[in-house]
Amino acid sequence: MASLKILGVRVDKVDMLEALCLVDSYIQEGSFHHVITLNAEIIYQAQSNEELKDLINGADLVTPDGSGIVWAAGYLGEPVAERVTGIDLMLEICKQAHHNGWRIFLLGGAPGVAEEAAQALKKDQPNINIVGTHHGYFQQREEEAMLAQIRKAEPDLIFVALGAPRQEFWIRAHREQLPVKIAIGVGGSFDVVSG
Ligand code: UDP
Repeated sequence: MASLKILGVRVDKVDMLEALCLVDSYIQEGSFHHVITLNAEIIYQAQSNEELKDLINGADLVTPDGSGIVWAAGYLGEPVAERVTGIDLMLEICKQAHHNGWRIFLLGGAPGVAEEAAQALKKDQPNINIVGTHHGYFQQREEEAMLAQIRKAEPDLIFVALGAPRQEFWIRAHREQLPVKIAIGVGGSFDVVSG
C-alpha cells in the first residue's frame, strides 16, 4: 500500500473503496488490526508527542480524514484521491456489515448516545448486527467489566468514540484484551449519527 509522510506522520493513499477492501481483508485474516482516520490536529499533536507519532506510524491503516491532509498531500506532490473520514468509513462499514453479518460493538460517547447511534444505524440497515454498546465515561475500575462485556459480545469490529487521540491510545493499550479483528477510533461520530 502506498503511503506518504506529512511532518513525519504516515498517511496511506487510500480512497474509500480501497479502505473498505482492506477492512474486508482484515476481517478475513482474523487477527487484530488498528485503523486510524487522521486529521491535521492529530499531526500537530504528534509533533510534540513521539509516542503518538509511533502509534500512528505503526497502525495497520491510516486514512486521510481531514481536508488539511488532502491539501498537504497535494502540496507535497503525493496526492490522495479523497477524504476517508471516520464517520463516512463507519457508515460504509455498517452497510457492508449488514450484508456480511459482521458483528459490531459501539464504545464511547455520553451515556445513552452509543445506544441511540445503534438504533439509528439499525433504522438504516435493519439487519445490521450491533452486538453491544457502552458509553465512554467509564472509570478505570469499571474497565475490566466493560472489557468482559465486549469479549462476551464477540464483535468483529469495535468503533471507539472517545475523541482523538485518547481513543487511539486506549485501543493500543487494550489490543490484547479486545477480541476483535478491527478497532477504529471515530471521534464524535456517535453524536452525529444519533442526531
Ligand atoms: N468522549 C467519551 N469519553 C470521554 C471523553 C469524550 O466518550 O472521556 C466522547 C464524547 O462524548 C464525544 C467524543 O468522545 O462523543 C469526542 O468527540 P470530539 O468531536 O471532541 O472528538 P474528535 O472527533 O475531535 O476526535
